[in-house]
Amino acid sequence: MKGIINTGFKVGILGGGQLGKMLVLAAQNWELETWVLDVSKDFPAGAACDHFVEGSFKDFDDVYHFGKQVDVLTIEIEHVNTEALLKLEREGIKIHPSPTALNIIKDKGLQKQFYKEKALPTSHFKFYENAKEIKTAIDNRQLTFPFVQKSRTAGYDGKGVAIIKSAEHLDRLMDTPSIIEPLVDIQKEIAVIVARNENGEVKAFPPVEMEFNPTANLVEFLFCPAAISSEIAREAIAIAKSTIEAYDLCGLLAVELFLTKDNEVLINEVAPRPHNSGHHTIDSAICSQFQQHLRAIVNYPLGNTEATIPSVMVNLLGADGHTGKAQYEGLQDCFSIEGAKFHIYGKAITKPFRKMGHVTIVDQDLENAKNKARQIQKSLKIISASQS
Ligand code: ADP
Repeated sequence: MKGIINTGFKVGILGGGQLGKMLVLAAQNWELETWVLDVSKDFPAGAACDHFVEGSFKDFDDVYHFGKQVDVLTIEIEHVNTEALLKLEREGIKIHPSPTALNIIKDKGLQKQFYKEKALPTSHFKFYENAKEIKTAIDNRQLTFPFVQKSRTAGYDGKGVAIIKSAEHLDRLMDTPSIIEPLVDIQKEIAVIVARNENGEVKAFPPVEMEFNPTANLVEFLFCPAAISSEIAREAIAIAKSTIEAYDLCGLLAVELFLTKDNEVLINEVAPRPHNSGHHTIDSAICSQFQQHLRAIVNYPLGNTEATIPSVMVNLLGADGHTGKAQYEGLQDCFSIEGAKFHIYGKAITKPFRKMGHVTIVDQDLENAKNKARQIQKSLKIISASQS
């Protein structure tokens, strides 16, 4: 392998969103050459990377030709053309995460089946082809309320998930191949980001706890360390490590978990890439998730995942009712909040609940950090210039 510090080692990233941008920024510290494929150079990673290639990460030819030009190929989004990745892999291109694992992870049905086969803990599930089949199962009393429907392939950020508590919610059913799982009695939602390199070294970041915006079903706050016992933390980390090994992945794996009211730890879903639940590591860990992903995919020793200080991460979401050129109302005042570190992604257009940036607040006292996070949420509004 060419040394990464030598000029000319090319890291290709499929996707030019904020995760791609932060990966590019981490790579620049080590003089890695970054190549990004996406449809517009105006996306967050476009201006930051060394080489932007215009094309679609969903298109076979675009992905194939892009992959031929780099030394290692990775992703910042799962919904890429895996047929092209499989061909590139056969031709000897190094791809992390592996296209075989990606094909499983992209389909929530295959993912659940995988956990069942590998005896990894997850809730029960059943497959349905469409809404009609689900309604028939309800009529035949094979399926009872409450339950959760998940589109097998179309979902992200809660958009492919319907929580059906009673017959009144049946209009929420999606007419698409889905899995149905029981509504889990959730005590907390936690996540563990774990990394593995080609030598088989595995390291996990401390578990984080997520709090959701009830309207948008998007993560709103994230706390680290999670308020869980050390026993639960150990169990969550052990599950995350077993999961990355089961997938035989190199790079990062973000493992989203439910802690049930009975203190059971269940895998909800995974993402084989840097993840929203690891953003705080840029500001509050010895090694960030982005550096760790790069170390893992170039097969360098993994970094220290310890947190240096407690932190809270807040997603900066576009205000409801605002679509247009983004304007950050109140941002300047928020800069006076001690320990707040701002990451603005540079998306020109804001939309309701669009992720426009994030803030990490570091503070020795987690409660103080949470209060500062709430203050920022109240004072900072991302609105459209035309509607202000
Ligand atoms: P996405 O891939 O769109 O993020 P998830 O599968 O993570 O979708 O689900 C989004 C959210 O919906 C979860 O974070 C959780 O709050 C809720 N949810 C998902 N599955 C269940 C379930 N089986 N029981 C209870 N709540 C669930």
